[in-house]
Amino acid sequence: MFNKILVANRGEIALRVIRAAREMGIGSVAVHSTADADAMHVRMADESVCIGPPSAAQSYLNFPAIISACEVTGAQAIHPGYGFLSENAQFVQIVEDHELTFIGPRAEHIRIMGDKITAKETMKALGVPCVPGSEGGVPDFATAKRLGAEIGFPLIVKATAGGGGRGMKLARTEAELERAFQTARAEAKAAFGNDEVYLEKYLGAPRHIEVQVFGDGKGGAVHLGERDCSLQRRHQKVLEEAPGPSISPEQRARIGATCAEAVARIGYAGAGTIEFLYEDGQFYFIEMNTRLQVEHPVTEAIYGVDLVREQIRVAAGEPLSFTQADLSPRGHAIEVRINAEKLPSFSPSPGRITQYHAPGGLGVRIDSALYDGYRIPPYYDSLIGKLIVHGRDRPEALARLDRALGELIVDGIDTTLPLFHALLKTDAVITGDYTIHWLEEWLARNLE
Ligand code: ADP
Repeated sequence: MFNKILVANRGEIALRVIRAAREMGIGSVAVHSTADADAMHVRMADESVCIGPPSAAQSYLNFPAIISACEVTGAQAIHPGYGFLSENAQFVQIVEDHELTFIGPRAEHIRIMGDKITAKETMKALGVPCVPGSEGGVPDFATAKRLGAEIGFPLIVKATAGGGGRGMKLARTEAELERAFQTARAEAKAAFGNDEVYLEKYLGAPRHIEVQVFGDGKGGAVHLGERDCSLQRRHQKVLEEAPGPSISPEQRARIGATCAEAVARIGYAGAGTIEFLYEDGQFYFIEMNTRLQVEHPVTEAIYGVDLVREQIRVAAGEPLSFTQADLSPRGHAIEVRINAEKLPSFSPSPGRITQYHAPGGLGVRIDSALYDGYRIPPYYDSLIGKLIVHGRDRPEALARLDRALGELIVDGIDTTLPLFHALLKTDAVITGDYTIHWLEEWLARNLE
């Protein structure tokens, strides 16, 4: 096992990793920009190294500074958290070239899943159900027109290099296809330097269901059920829950086994998430994230496992501490993402926290790097904390969420907390009956 690991991230996820390391008796090194000198992850780690100015490109994404921080402190492995360098295959290669360990999958798997066409082809060959669409890239509009007629409308044009909802265009009818095709290509070229696109049937009212998998890197893998992340705004998740209110134990076992078998066959190492759209009882693969997800705590709550601990174990060459037979979900968990944003525009709201009080009690978890007097810098993601509740069933989890939200105080800045107070009163959230479009429609009617 490692003696010391470096956490190449900031905010709540850096704390999450430092906590796991401490429980395992492993030393932790925080890295930070000059804007984060007073941040909680710096205070909580055993050691810290300043790696550059505020801009992420010069600090949290700065390969040489991070590698030198390992060399200076003697850290043997790097945990990337999520975002920043977590899905950067080139960084993984450089880490390995310096005889350090990347706590995550191999560069090869990050590369395959980072290209959507290759990811889809790979998953299809491994028996994972995919959205019907073009086989591979579509080189020109004439081909798009021919394939469009075969697939049927509505359809979406998607960039193979796409991410964060960019390079994706809807064509409701054949008349809209040329414009969608050309715009998606131009957007993808500008954003990712790669204009290859493909076509996919558009699903009208799906849910977003994702399966948590874990590979031991030696041909073994397990699944930890699904999360429902259908409450989204601009393709960004807002609230996540597990188990999915629409998924039966039989469906869970079936899709979970398919996903675990797929990642086992490629020799995948560590945590991964296979994302699906789910409609009329069918799963359709959209992408795989080769990292820890923001919403991993809901899975930890119902399965009673520490996913970061397992990531560290697998990276150190140790076996997983559980088998599939050990894993069965218990109760229901819900997470809400607390962002420093002003409603109804959701514009960033950085600034000083004048008062912070975290809720507590049975079944309540707060993952946050906030403290009284903390000044949230304007340079990074607006996520400032996650509130996770666990109950014996969904109604108990909802009641607990309502109670915990009532105790939570974040003063001095605007946050998305009022949104959750309002959402808990809606029939859709109370019954769990919502699709990926529901929140946007509700916001348009009630807030914006
Ligand atoms: P990105 O990597 O840019 O986030 P995804 O492929 O994960 O792109 O898709 C993001 C979101 O776009 C999905 O969560 C869903 O809301 C919507 N979406 C993607 N593919 C389809 C599809 N075939 N039909 C309907 N909606 C889709």
